[in-house]
Amino acid sequence: MNLPICELCAKSNTLCSGCDEKVKKGKLSKLEVKLSRLLYKLKNKYNLEHADLTKVIDLDRVVIILTKKDVGLLIGKEGKVVSEISQELGKKVRIAEISGDIKKTLSDVVAPAKILGINKLYKKDGSIYKVRFSKREITQLPVDINTLEKALKYLLDSDVMIVFE
Ligand SMILES: [Zn+2]
Repeated sequence: MNLPICELCAKSNTLCSGCDEKVKKGKLSKLEVKLSRLLYKLKNKYNLEHADLTKVIDLDRVVIILTKKDVGLLIGKEGKVVSEISQELGKKVRIAEISGDIKKTLSDVVAPAKILGINKLYKKDGSIYKVRFSKREITQLPVDINTLEKALKYLLDSDVMIVFE
């Protein structure tokens, strides 16, 4: 099982200094810690030995779990795994694949809104992703623009600017 926290932390209720450091640096969220522990607990019940949890994006009403492996593993037979997670969180949960293809990953996150294009702009002090939508897609966004921008920033570990054209 591949989790963003170490096995020791997945098993216990405290964080080791390594994992705690990641939380403090903003590389690991409390929600990711919580979900890692939950998946670890469900490991034997649902055969999650080969499951992967890479990142979790919180869009208020819906939580998106991003995995590098087959999404089916975290959905489970007849959706049993995803519905147990959803019950635990009291929120809707979606499982999406995270891949090297940023546009595909982001498209999954912002669905049902459709992305027009993504541009990576380089600045003196780093880079910024410009995620472009058509104006008429505003109502299709899964969450308000501010929350979405923050979520994408966390996902890409880079500055993100959402623009409507
Ligand atoms: Zn740890």
